[in-house]
Amino acid sequence: MLYSKLFGKTSKTMPSDEEAINSQLLIRAGFAHKVMSGVWSYLPLGLRVFEKIKDIVREEINAVGGQEILMSALQSKELWDETGRWESLKEIMFQFEGRGGAWLGLSTTHEEPVVDIARAKISSYKDLPFALYQIQDKFRNEPRAKSGLLRGREFSMKDLYSFHATKEDLDGYYEKVKEAYLRIFKRCGLEAMVVEASGGVFSKEHSHEFQVLVETGEDTIFYCEKNVRRPGLPGRPGLDTKCDFAQNKEIAEVYAGDKCPKCGRKVLIGKAIEVGNIFKLGTKYSKPMNLKFMSKDGKEQAVIMGCYGLGPSRILGAIVEVWHDDKGIIWPEEVSPCCVHLLDLSKDDKSNVRKAAKKVCEILEKAEWEVLWDDRLDVSAGEKFADADLIGIPLRILVSEKTLAKDSVELKYRQSGKAEIVKIKDLIKKLS
Ligand code: ATP
Ligand code: MG
Repeated sequence: MLYSKLFGKTSKTMPSDEEAINSQLLIRAGFAHKVMSGVWSYLPLGLRVFEKIKDIVREEINAVGGQEILMSALQSKELWDETGRWESLKEIMFQFEGRGGAWLGLSTTHEEPVVDIARAKISSYKDLPFALYQIQDKFRNEPRAKSGLLRGREFSMKDLYSFHATKEDLDGYYEKVKEAYLRIFKRCGLEAMVVEASGGVFSKEHSHEFQVLVETGEDTIFYCEKNVRRPGLPGRPGLDTKCDFAQNKEIAEVYAGDKCPKCGRKVLIGKAIEVGNIFKLGTKYSKPMNLKFMSKDGKEQAVIMGCYGLGPSRILGAIVEVWHDDKGIIWPEEVSPCCVHLLDLSKDDKSNVRKAAKKVCEILEKAEWEVLWDDRLDVSAGEKFADADLIGIPLRILVSEKTLAKDSVELKYRQSGKAEIVKIKDLIKKLS
């Protein structure tokens, strides 16, 4: 990909009303465009990251048996009246009158529509269990849409719904999805902590949130000092989890400094971003909506459900909140828009440096490395370096007169800042 041709270059100026680090950096680096408060469009680089996050989500959810569907965003009042949520979600759901006086709404979530589909298709225990998911935009008239991509009024959600004959079957599946979620966040460069939160349906059970510790998070959580899952940052070593105790402040039975109720060590307090939330729904939606099946012994029973949400657009914002420095974004490898940011400092299209850069680009692309080549001729070296730091691709490869004198290129790693000289002929071997 040639940077000279790319739509959406970096910009030095910042919209004055943008407070959040994620949106400031994503706008400046040319990844996102603000439509209005809580509504975003993705530009080419931003879309590449967004798609990579969704690919990871699909891989991991498919691996636990989720089957992808796509439900409509436009909803009818009648369907949501069946559970009383047309009324109870009034504040947050965009609702409006359609042609002929029919009331319509934009989906805030999809329990009602997915149950409506399931009840048209299943009748027997033989149809169970199954799990359906989609990646689709949700609409919520959020009161505080000031956190950039973290809190959209239109935002992307992956919502998975599972359907079971027994509570035991749901319990087993729930644990599988929990593990899949942790793998998803890890692959996105985020160490999420599993935190107990409100929203459980069965007595004494909680829902589970996946929280990423970061000072700019909106949520407050209490967690055992041995429950710190986070990747290493420069100057800050990563830590492993040895106790899994963590509670959201909204339900917490402890406070900072207390003894951990599980292991007796100290309870800490921290700010965090909720990137996912999973619930055991039981029969909360299947009962009022009449989603039933005939059991093995011929009894009619309500289907037992679980639901599992995570937000690809919020994940994108959270990655930037965690992975940045004063120069710009630092993309984790698997979600970076490209693998390599190639730079050459030519001022002339016919120079040897330019020819060598072209060759390096071809070598990389032949080995299936995605390259963003900053091929601009009219931009200073300093500007190119600053743009590379702002855009945040993990590996920068520089071709200059100096490196060429040794038939080499300079590799520089965005995260550690370390650099090394590598012969062009050894490049692919070195990278793989
Ligand atoms: P919050 O408490 O932050 O408002 P929520 O608990 O209402 O979120 P859920 O209904 O549990 O959110 O949604 C599942 C997931 O969807 C969340 O964990 C989050 O990743 C994402 N999400 C929810 N609301 C938003 C939003 N307004 N903007 C972006 N992502 C969101
Ligand atoms: Mg939630």
